[in-house]
Amino acid sequence: MTEQNSVNRELFDQVMVPNYAPSSVIPVRGKGSRVWDQNENEYIDFAGGIAVNCLGHCHPALVGALQSQSEKIWHLSNVMTNEPALRLAKKLVDATFAEKVYFANSGAESNEAALKLARRWALDVHGSNKTQIIAFKQGFHGRTFFTVTVGGQAAYSDGFGPKPGDIVHAEYNNLESVKALISDKTCAVVMEPLQGEGGIVSPTQEFAQGVRELCDQHNALLVFDEVQTGVGRLGELYAYMGLNVTPDILTTAKALGGGFPIGAMITTTEIAKHLKIGTHGSTYGGNPLACAVAEAAFDTVNTPEVLNGVKAKEKLFKDGLNAINAKYKVFSEIRGQGLLIGAVLTDAYQGRAKDFLNAAMAEGLMSLVAGASIVRFAPSLVIEDADIAEGLARFEKAVAKLAQA
Ligand SMILES: *Cc1c(COP(=O)(O)O)cnc(C)c1O
Repeated sequence: MTEQNSVNRELFDQVMVPNYAPSSVIPVRGKGSRVWDQNENEYIDFAGGIAVNCLGHCHPALVGALQSQSEKIWHLSNVMTNEPALRLAKKLVDATFAEKVYFANSGAESNEAALKLARRWALDVHGSNKTQIIAFKQGFHGRTFFTVTVGGQAAYSDGFGPKPGDIVHAEYNNLESVKALISDKTCAVVMEPLQGEGGIVSPTQEFAQGVRELCDQHNALLVFDEVQTGVGRLGELYAYMGLNVTPDILTTAKALGGGFPIGAMITTTEIAKHLKIGTHGSTYGGNPLACAVAEAAFDTVNTPEVLNGVKAKEKLFKDGLNAINAKYKVFSEIRGQGLLIGAVLTDAYQGRAKDFLNAAMAEGLMSLVAGASIVRFAPSLVIEDADIAEGLARFEKAVAKLAQA
């Protein structure tokens, strides 16, 4: 048996903790929006590593940044700062409402920092009674115990013993439900400015604006979790810019590193000052390798060409999916924004999103699901139009097979 043959999907079941159920396909290399597996089968990537690979696979700017930083310095810890971290922080500050940056390694860690900061700010400024956190049903904020409890699916946070307290959940796009919960004891409202894992649900302008106003009335911080929506995904650098609603704290990860693990929490100087020396930290956060790659990703995405390109490609996707649906009638709605798109299955196909994903994979197309009944697409922001056309053609073949069966 060759070494490659013994490194296979069966080995996963032997040596990995069983919390994931990965595909039998093991990709070994990628270029742009194409990926090849161990057997040289080729796939088009509409999944983007779950909205992470914003510039596809092995983008020259990212490879260059990684190679060049890898020959300079890899890691220092936060006992010292480093040039890539400082440059990236300056760019985040220049491009957004924020004045201060905290680096982490993932979305969950960025949110953990945001939640701890909100609680500490409230304690310092308003005293010990202001601890309530309002989040939303179906929301997703990561898998640490604090963030998963703030997330709106009890199934993910149940079964681990006592949960962090004083966290309540309102209904997304229902301002009355926020009004019913919010009070001067609320320290923060945490929301995604488009629910990703929860089903590709866009907020209405009135809802986002209304939440901002309620936060202002009750001296609560508005935290936007832009881990999935940030860095160009919706066609703006950050989704808050398109909504015209500015949060007090914003978290960003996934696409920030274009495939290299990094996250950040960004905020104002006034709020940031409550994370005093020693109150929070991370060994790897702001690591030079991660920041060098993220800086290159940020520079590449934060251009009119790429951001306008996202809007143009959104139209290609939606037109193509609507055309497929006109023939096969499997979707009740094509929704989402930019290159975060959800195809909602009709009643006849409820609970079968995974079947569509598997059928697409068999045709050479990588896609995602968002819950049991929505097929999700989160491709590279610079995916070639020809790859979109070919990927949609493959998807149509998969849909045709399922619709016939
Ligand atoms: C993916 C995601 C997270 C968690 O990010 P990790 O890097 O997996 O910790 C948090 N919030 C949102 C909105 C996400 O989509």
